[in-house]
Amino acid sequence: MNILVMNCGSSSLKYQLIDSESENVLAKGLCERIGIDGRLTHKPANKEKYVVETTLKDHNDAVKLVMDTLMDQEHGVISDINEISAVGHRVLHGGKFFSDSIIINEEVKDVIKACFELGPLHNPANLIGIEACEKIMPNTPQVAVFDTAFHQTMPAKAYMYGIPYEYYDKYNIRKYGFHGTSHSFVSKRAIEIARLDKDNSKVIVCHLGNGASISAVENGKSIDTSMGLTPLEGLIMGTRSGDIDPTVIQYIAHKENKTLEEVLNILNKKSGVLGLSEYSSDFRDILKRAGEGEEKATLALDAFVYRIVKYIGSYIAAMNGVDAIAFTAGLGENNAKVRNMICSSLAYVGVELDQAANEEAAGVEKIISSANSKVKVMAIPTNEELAIARETVALI
Ligand code: ADP
Repeated sequence: MNILVMNCGSSSLKYQLIDSESENVLAKGLCERIGIDGRLTHKPANKEKYVVETTLKDHNDAVKLVMDTLMDQEHGVISDINEISAVGHRVLHGGKFFSDSIIINEEVKDVIKACFELGPLHNPANLIGIEACEKIMPNTPQVAVFDTAFHQTMPAKAYMYGIPYEYYDKYNIRKYGFHGTSHSFVSKRAIEIARLDKDNSKVIVCHLGNGASISAVENGKSIDTSMGLTPLEGLIMGTRSGDIDPTVIQYIAHKENKTLEEVLNILNKKSGVLGLSEYSSDFRDILKRAGEGEEKATLALDAFVYRIVKYIGSYIAAMNGVDAIAFTAGLGENNAKVRNMICSSLAYVGVELDQAANEEAAGVEKIISSANSKVKVMAIPTNEELAIARETVALI
């Protein structure tokens, strides 16, 4: 059967139509720059790539364009919508309610909605994607696969915040972690590619996209990760601040006469490399400007990399070593310069890149460390879609 996998990010919608028996991808694509301008890149198997530049004002527009393209006479791969047996949706936050995937009904949607304030950039986009699919194919089962699930193995010392315990008891305030499907998939592949013994392995996964997070995966299990109660914690991201002193929130609120919600909106949507560069949240734009020597873009890039280097160092300490470091997601999979900037600060643990291999690694699985490197470093395209398709088939 054919499973359509939808992965609605804050500014992107990735999709794959997967034949679940062969696990072959019949077509895949990416709507990017949603809300900025809009572009669809659609790649049907055995046919030419097809690119559409069109305004995508929101995810509704993107879902409609994807469906039309999948059924397009020239570029499509199916002729009828009923050829899609189920849709698997990546959903950001399951809160305390879901530690596993689930078939979507009204109750599940209510819970996804209830988690909006925990995932303000993604949960609304996820729900729009779900509802847009329901409208177009009302009789097709839809499955939610949550980003929080993989990190449920973290020990309490990693997921508890140093705040009064009663807030955990009353409100379940703790670190949850995100990008779980990606950290799970990539850490498994890293163990395979580096030929590690899973039960004696220490892997750090750097998921560097518009949203970015790092995880420490010991013996195949997540033991720590940089995102927290919400995806706001941790790394400096496209538009998110990552870690800050909480007092900054009070300070901005007082000085700028803003509410807490307004300040959090700034930290989620107007901060990160966008805020620092005063230019763009898109790393390609930042890299281009920094390459031209522009001061604020350079600062944004340097701060982004510095935070990653610090997190990697802390996870090496937490695991008392590291066997492999894997880079994934838009920037991590594709950009040799940023990988090089990060790895050049890791010589103290014996990381050494093979510069030619690093340059070649763009969207393909590749070991990018040299033969002498004490730590295997690799680029691994994340395959959340395949992982989600497998979960979807298991549930329906
Ligand atoms: P999300 O799903 O959170 O939107 P992605 O994993 O799709 O994020 O990553 C998007 C980011 O990756 C964008 O900032 C984009 O600029 C960056 N990116 C994609 N390809 C490249 C590349 N070749 N070089 C640098 N950055 C890239």
